[in-house]
Amino acid sequence: MTKKIGFLGLGHMGGPMAANLVAAGYDVHAFDPVRAAQDKARADGATVVAEASAAATDRDLVITMLPNGKLVLDLYAELLPVANPGTLFIDCSTIDVADAKAAAELAVAAGHRALDAPVSGGVAGAAAGTLTFMVGGAEADFADGLAVLEVMGGKVVHCGGSGVGQAAKICNNMLLGISMIGLSEALVLGEKLGLSHQSFFDVVSTASGQSWALTSYCPVPGPVPTSPANNDYRPGFATALMTKDLGLAANALAANGVDGALGALAAQIYARFNQENAGLDFSAIVTEVRNRSNQVGAE
Ligand code: NAD
Repeated sequence: MTKKIGFLGLGHMGGPMAANLVAAGYDVHAFDPVRAAQDKARADGATVVAEASAAATDRDLVITMLPNGKLVLDLYAELLPVANPGTLFIDCSTIDVADAKAAAELAVAAGHRALDAPVSGGVAGAAAGTLTFMVGGAEADFADGLAVLEVMGGKVVHCGGSGVGQAAKICNNMLLGISMIGLSEALVLGEKLGLSHQSFFDVVSTASGQSWALTSYCPVPGPVPTSPANNDYRPGFATALMTKDLGLAANALAANGVDGALGALAAQIYARFNQENAGLDFSAIVTEVRNRSNQVGAE
C-alpha cells in the first residue's frame, strides 16, 4: 500500500522534493508558513494543510526540510503528539549532530521512529530527484523509508545509527571547504609566481594535489567550463550554505574534542567572506584570497 506522507518545509529543496513524491503517486499533505511555497505545492498536486500539526496527522511518514535544528526540535514538539503511533519521522535538513540525535530521541520517546537523512546535490538534484541521502538510524527504519527516499534521490546510503547521517554530511563539507581554501591559496600563489591557471590545472589535476574542487569545480574560469567561476560565481553551492555547514562542523569538532585546526579556521574564513558574499558560489573564496593577498602586497 502506498504510504501517506506529511511534508513540512517547502523551500528551495523541500518544494521540488515534495513535488517528486506527488509525481510518484504518493498522497502528500504539505505545510509551509510561506504563501508562495504553499501555492507552488498546491500547483504541484500536494494537499496543502493550514497548520503544521495537520501535516503529521494520520500519516505513515513525516518528512521535514527546514533551515536549522531549533526549528526541527520546535516542530517535533508540535508534531509528535498528534501523529499515529509508530509514524516514521525523516528529517532531511542539515542540522547539528546533537540536534539530530535529540530530535530522534524525542520521536522514539513519543512512540515513533526516526531517521536523519541530510542530502547533497543542491536545488538541481532536488528537482531532478537525484539527491544523495546520508541516513542515520535503525536498520529496520532505514529499510522502511528507503523506497520513499529513492523517489527523491539517486543514491541513498545508510551511514549508521542516529545522527550519523548528519556526521557524514558535515565531515564531507568540512573537507570540501578546507580543500577549496587550500586550492585557492595554491592558485593565487601560482598567479604571483607567473604560473597560468591552465598550466596549474594541467599539472595538478593529475598530480598529488588533485581534488574534486579542482577537477570538477575549478574556482577560476577556464580549465573546467561548467564550474561556477565561468558564470560570475552564481551558485552552485552558495557561500551562505557552506558557511552554515562549516559552523556545524566546527561545533562538532569542539563538542567531540577533535584537534581540527583547519576545520575551525575554514569556518572562520567562510564566516568572514559570507558577510558580504552570501549569495555567491563558495568557490568565489579564491577572489577573497586574491584580494587580501593584494592588500598585503600593497602595504
Ligand atoms: P529554504 O530556506 O529555501 O526552505 C526552508 C523552508 O522551511 C522555507 O520555505 C520556510 O518557510 C520553511 N519553514 C520555516 N519554518 C517552518 C515551519 N515551522 N513549518 C514548515 N516549514 C517551515 O532552505 P533550503 O535551501 O530548502 O534548505 C533546506 C535545508 O536543506 C537546510 O537545512 C539546508 O542547509 C539543506 N540543504 C540545502 C541545500 C541547497 O542547495 N539549498 C543543499 C543541501 C542541503
